[in-house]
Amino acid sequence: MTKIYNFSAGPAMLPIEVLYHVKKELTNWNNLGVSVMEISHRSKDFIEMAERTINDFRDLLHIPSNYKILFCHGGARAQFSAVPGNLLGSSTTADYINGGYWSSKAIEEAKNYCFPRITNVKRICEGKYEIMPMKNWNTSDHSAYLHYCPNETVDGISIDEQPNFGKKIVVADLSSTILSRPININNYGLIYASAQKNIGPAGLTILVINETLLDNKINSYIPSILNYQILAENNSMFNTPSTFSWYLAGLIFDWLKKKGGVDAIDKINQTKSDLLYETIDHSSGFYNNNISKKNRSRMNITFNLLSNSLESLFLEESIKAGLISLKGHSAVGGIRASIYNAMTLDGVKALINFMNYFANKYG
Ligand SMILES: *Cc1c(COP(=O)(O)O)cnc(C)c1O
Repeated sequence: MTKIYNFSAGPAMLPIEVLYHVKKELTNWNNLGVSVMEISHRSKDFIEMAERTINDFRDLLHIPSNYKILFCHGGARAQFSAVPGNLLGSSTTADYINGGYWSSKAIEEAKNYCFPRITNVKRICEGKYEIMPMKNWNTSDHSAYLHYCPNETVDGISIDEQPNFGKKIVVADLSSTILSRPININNYGLIYASAQKNIGPAGLTILVINETLLDNKINSYIPSILNYQILAENNSMFNTPSTFSWYLAGLIFDWLKKKGGVDAIDKINQTKSDLLYETIDHSSGFYNNNISKKNRSRMNITFNLLSNSLESLFLEESIKAGLISLKGHSAVGGIRASIYNAMTLDGVKALINFMNYFANKYG
């Protein structure tokens, strides 16, 4: 069988070594004679693994002890409600930065809870999309927090500038960039990420929150399962967590640590995306990426071909070559190669070889 390289935007590929490890111990975890899915989340074995997983995540991102790490349900979408529900307090507004598909979805949801002050930061400059510099983002002293999405998974746009908004609480949706590069958590009040891009299987959402935000006055309408204070008091086990996702995330963190951690994967991710963008930029216009260089995503590389029919042909032939899930999101079309931590340099090189072959054949 042809070697398959999976460029899915999410749920995304997982490291093959980790999947083999899971396979090996699937029916007999920790020598208990049963799988990890079949034991109580309150059992000693599970709790030990769960705590180790959280500590490894803390180590990987150098998260200081005044931040609480919560393992939640409901994906990033649930956080679109949970964030205003937990952080608005008596305020009726929050700053929402609109930089693409997912930040606009967060805004739609926020409208159920407050009057978001929206700043559209995506603009066209010399035919390329770019993001307005942070110093020009329009924030208000009356807003409870500022929400933005540093990597727009659908649009292929990234905001790499580090947030610096004084006392303003910064909230970020890191679903498609978490663990792909170092972050300074002190710049944020809260970050969240659903697991299925860079962490593990779907079903888990990781949240990191500054402890000072946990005694905020909670709005009474928020369901307990989305209430950060309740989740923190119960060590993320207010109800049954997604146990298998928790376990698999732990294996991924192990894998990442053995690879040298976030600093090491950061360099590999830079190399991978540089190679792909070079291929696009050196194709004499056969492939086109319409994002300004400073805002190009390293995780989701989007590009177009000269016509829709050529794009369909590209997708058809790429699948035959073992390169799957390259179709762009339905909202934007085109091609999208998602190359999260688990995608190997070999996978990226296979895609590049195919792109060069295809451009020679049809260019
Ligand atoms: C995938 C994604 C989401 C949606 O995640 P769900 O877990 O499906 O709710 C939200 N934001 C970003 C940036 C994403 O990449």
